[in-house]
Amino acid sequence: MRIVELSTRRDQLPVRRAEVASEITVLENEKQGLEEAVERARLDRRSREGELDVQQRQREKYEAQLNQVKTNVAYSALLTEIQGAKRMIGELETEVLELMDAIEQDTNRLTEIELELAHKREAARDELQSIDAETAALDQQLATEEHRRNLVAEKVDDQLYRVYDRLRRVQRFPALVPLHGSACGSCHGYFPPQVVREVTHDGRIYTCEACGVLVYAANEE
Ligand SMILES: [Zn+2]
Repeated sequence: MRIVELSTRRDQLPVRRAEVASEITVLENEKQGLEEAVERARLDRRSREGELDVQQRQREKYEAQLNQVKTNVAYSALLTEIQGAKRMIGELETEVLELMDAIEQDTNRLTEIELELAHKREAARDELQSIDAETAALDQQLATEEHRRNLVAEKVDDQLYRVYDRLRRVQRFPALVPLHGSACGSCHGYFPPQVVREVTHDGRIYTCEACGVLVYAANEE
């Protein structure tokens, strides 16, 4: 029963640990996502700025040609090209500004996250340390109890042990209960006088037919 109690407590510790660490995990995931977004936006911005450069040189080239054309048709064709380049430049400039905005916002949020993470890690540190210490202590106690248990189990009659072990495997605890008057200490079902005598006088350990536990005679003391 002590082993079951210790194991139950031991099994809850990883769950508690995950709960304490969960807010940190959420922030760490957000941080990673933002860092990737900033990296993508920076690459995007560089490529837009490259296109912008190309368009601006194109526009300057067309504007220089304006003075050299001889016909109205060629002149208006150049104006159309210049307008097209200007429109592209405007669009690219807007995109670059939007990307810069996004990068700034994400970078600000990243600074906030770093601060929050530092606070939460600090706050969680003590609790996580105490959970780790408790885990180690419980493992130690469990090892001791298992050892004690095995020493006792070796001394128990084989057939009796098999009955007990079946109860233990289905976590039927307590598996051993004292006789209560002439009734089972667990389900309170009455036993025939013959059984009661065997338990109380002969020290027999009896399997209750009603509930399956092992019944023994409790010493008066
Ligand atoms: Zn019973």
